[in-house]
Amino acid sequence: MSRIELVALGTSSQVPTRYRNHNGYLLRLDREDFLFDPGEGTQLQMARARVGVERLRRVLLTHFHGDHCLGLAGVLQLINAANVGNVVEFHFPVSGLRYYERAICACIYDLQAKFEPRPVRALGLQMACPELRIYAQKLSHGVPTIGYRVEIQQKSSSNPFVLAFAMDTRRCAGARLLAEGADVLISECTYLSSEAKEAEERGHMTAAHAAELAVEAGVKHLMLTHFSQRYPGNRPFLEEAQAIHGRVTALSDLRTYILAD
Ligand SMILES: [Zn+2]
Ligand SMILES: [Zn+2]
Repeated sequence: MSRIELVALGTSSQVPTRYRNHNGYLLRLDREDFLFDPGEGTQLQMARARVGVERLRRVLLTHFHGDHCLGLAGVLQLINAANVGNVVEFHFPVSGLRYYERAICACIYDLQAKFEPRPVRALGLQMACPELRIYAQKLSHGVPTIGYRVEIQQKSSSNPFVLAFAMDTRRCAGARLLAEGADVLISECTYLSSEAKEAEERGHMTAAHAAELAVEAGVKHLMLTHFSQRYPGNRPFLEEAQAIHGRVTALSDLRTYILAD
């Protein structure tokens, strides 16, 4: 594996806006794609971003709040219609199995695709092959929520490229474990520090919290997303985090980011 890209399909938290769709993140590796947290509208955002499901092998959900899963039924239809014959595996908290099954049975269609649920029953290593390892850790959000750590073995290096995905969560031990030494941390930052109390009460982070987590864990590149609809622009998030961490990107909808080349 060499080139690694991230397509931000949506960067909004609870309520989508004219400028931010619900969550959705497509990780593009050499030969396969992984989709994280397909919120409402992910199918359409994929069309807008000109990405298909032909290379999609894995869908990873952190939890079953609507902004992270309301697009699942649509994405399943897209995969089924593409009929590419590959197995697509789904990772999600085991307590959410009924929501996954409802998405599979959300409408009338002729199920041809090979969907393979891989509910997370125990924390830690979820899958391993020579090129890839995926770990899950518990996050602190008030409902069953897990984050992911994806380790991708690069041909050019003996060390894997590490991407951590932490949302939705307060600062917690699980987020720290996921982010430890990561090349890229994709982190929620629903609020700014002016709303730190609300962030704590509602199980979220501020931009400063995410940046502090990234510094403590030795993360090289912090990518912020999951912005509350109350803030129209990304600049305040960026500025708050940049005061704490040296390399920060605030994700924008439909932009592709090259993580490794
Ligand atoms: Zn959310
Ligand atoms: Zn949530």
